[in-house]
Amino acid sequence: MSTPIITVDRVTKSFTNPSGEQLPVLSEVCLELREGEIVALLGKSGSGKSTLLRIIAGLVKPSAGTARHGDTEITEPGASTAMVFQTFALLPWLTVWQNVELGLRAQGVPVAERAPRVTAAIDMIGLDGFENAYPKELSGGMRQRVGFARALVVQPEVLLMDEPFSALDVLTAENLRGELIRLWAQTAFPTKTVLMVTHNIEEAVQLADRILVLDNNPGRIKGEIKVGLEHPRDTRGRHFLNIVDQAYRLLTDGAFDGDRHAIAPTPTTRPLPDASVDGIGGMLDLVAAQGGCADIPELASGLRFEIDDIMPLVDAAGLLGLATTSGGEIELTLDGHNFAEADINKAKEIFARLARDKAPLVGAIDHALANAHNNQLRDGFFLDLLRRGFTEDAAQRQLRTAVDWGRYAELYEYDADERLLTRHPFES
Ligand code: ADP
Ligand code: MG
Repeated sequence: MSTPIITVDRVTKSFTNPSGEQLPVLSEVCLELREGEIVALLGKSGSGKSTLLRIIAGLVKPSAGTARHGDTEITEPGASTAMVFQTFALLPWLTVWQNVELGLRAQGVPVAERAPRVTAAIDMIGLDGFENAYPKELSGGMRQRVGFARALVVQPEVLLMDEPFSALDVLTAENLRGELIRLWAQTAFPTKTVLMVTHNIEEAVQLADRILVLDNNPGRIKGEIKVGLEHPRDTRGRHFLNIVDQAYRLLTDGAFDGDRHAIAPTPTTRPLPDASVDGIGGMLDLVAAQGGCADIPELASGLRFEIDDIMPLVDAAGLLGLATTSGGEIELTLDGHNFAEADINKAKEIFARLARDKAPLVGAIDHALANAHNNQLRDGFFLDLLRRGFTEDAAQRQLRTAVDWGRYAELYEYDADERLLTRHPFES
């Protein structure tokens, strides 16, 4: 085996929230990028994929552990690493040519050397004719070409890509993926190793030689899949679909096996998935219509959704005990069947019982309101508590979900103007 170009050694990363507490995002992550390979990093949203990529790019410092390029510890952005972003990150007041040149300017390449290199990068990525256009004149696909050209103009040894195709329409994304692979196959292509973050499983299997799956809370590598297929890959071939299946399984397995832990879950150790009652209910209806068991990837593709879109619903159903998952399948529990078939009042009753027992934040709000004067509390009280374990955005999202669930269950009411939570009078 060739020597690794990039080595990530037991990297742990926590962010400090406004109240000074540490939020773990990555935990003891180890990985290597070797010469000649494309590695995909697959994981649900929030699992720390971008953070890991930024650590390798030298943009973020790990809290513990090291990232090395060769033998050198990565402590700042390096000249031989380039990054492509999901949102293109172009400067709107610069032309295509100037945006691409920016990559070289940052490296202090003399002016005389820049022009031929910019021209070469622009040609290579199919932007000739657009040199003087401004980003706003370009389609998303053309903008991402500029993103690629700006990264490739520095002839990076290591190319890092953070969901580079996910903001593009399907055909444009497919087209650019194909072009990237053709460039990669050229012997003159200077890049030796690629790490690509994605939440799209097919994309990972189409491009990567190895797929690493990152688990949530805090992010750690859950497993690795070797793809072992030649380019270009037949995305309908049996081997391809087998690997897609394996990746789905690895991504979805053990999504909510938290009950095995002895410590009682709390609102911060068991966050609520970002799922509305309507979303959860709709998904359970679909599963019930298929006899109570469904393949999660098929469910997602049948809805024209990515797995990432449907996973919060699956996680929520699991957390509430409405369904279980294993091997990429979701199966309704008895409560799940009853919920899917019940009339609205019965469904609310089932949901109320499960949410109070199994969703720690809903249980905590219910309990606090029961003990509060007038059975009322300001939302700020809960937000303060949530900020101890979540970032501001995440804390707001947690509360929003708990309000949605508790309202539906008729456990409590929320007055958005007064920012006041009130326990439902009919519950005692
Ligand atoms: P992914 O790319 O897998 O969606 P990220 O790496 O962007 O995940 O984020 C992982 C977690 O870290 C999220 O909960 C996010 O809110 C948090 N996070 C990321 N960057 C910061 C930051 N600069 N400060 C605080 N929290 C952050
Ligand atoms: Mg990200």
